[in-house]
Amino acid sequence: MPEGPEIRRAADKLVDAVVGKTLTRVWFAFPGLKRYETELLGQQIRQIETRGKALLTYFSNGRVLYSHNQLYGVWRVVNAGESPETKRDLRIRLETQDRAILLYSASDIEMLTVDSLGEHPFLQRIGPDVLDLSLTPEQVRERLLLPRFRRRRLSGLLLDQAFLAGLGNYLRVEILWQAQIAPQHTAAELNEEQLQRLSRALLEIPRLSYTTRGAVDENRHHGAIFSFKVFHRDGESCERCGGTIERTVLSSRPFYWCPHCQGSLAHPSESAKAG
Ligand SMILES: [Zn+2]
Repeated sequence: MPEGPEIRRAADKLVDAVVGKTLTRVWFAFPGLKRYETELLGQQIRQIETRGKALLTYFSNGRVLYSHNQLYGVWRVVNAGESPETKRDLRIRLETQDRAILLYSASDIEMLTVDSLGEHPFLQRIGPDVLDLSLTPEQVRERLLLPRFRRRRLSGLLLDQAFLAGLGNYLRVEILWQAQIAPQHTAAELNEEQLQRLSRALLEIPRLSYTTRGAVDENRHHGAIFSFKVFHRDGESCERCGGTIERTVLSSRPFYWCPHCQGSLAHPSESAKAG
């Protein structure tokens, strides 16, 4: 499943294609959305934004299209009038004078309004988005220490969109490596320095991945570039300490870490003290 940075980059392509443009053709597959086809004609697409793994498309008449791709949904950008050959089921077509965006296969689609967004169950449940640049490490630290999160193991907490939206499995393992913390710990067990390292990594790693992962021309980037330090690197040497990276399964997902510098899984209390 794509994670926040990949979803945001996919959304950026939709933004480039249609935001600020007037709708010339609108089509929805689901009967419950048909009535919006004529209503949206002639309206503009004002903005497209991501909330975790959900996408919100804002129209000039105050309507907001909510879509969540789950495992199968995929957006495509095509030229106006174009219908790619595919076995996928088309669910949405939003067309402007020159470009159109098409959503295939997704089933979690609803029409909301700017005013009703806050009442949507998914949007109510998810935490702040790691790619929201107004979110600070201090706020993340406070969130880690909230009663409902502070005693949960980081291995599971970092996959819970209610904690922070936009994280997924590769980000979970890379964040914990960056923060140099073993996954079985809870925020309540961390010392202040570890808490701060983790709070910074929770924002820095997803943001670095969003801005630089898969960059074709690496010369354009003068700062750090995102690369996997432990993900899918079991058996290789840790670039920080030279230890051997291991793989296990935590919260039903593959987990990669360096026991030498992050701490072992076997003795959580000791590695917590070692910090
Ligand atoms: Zn290491």
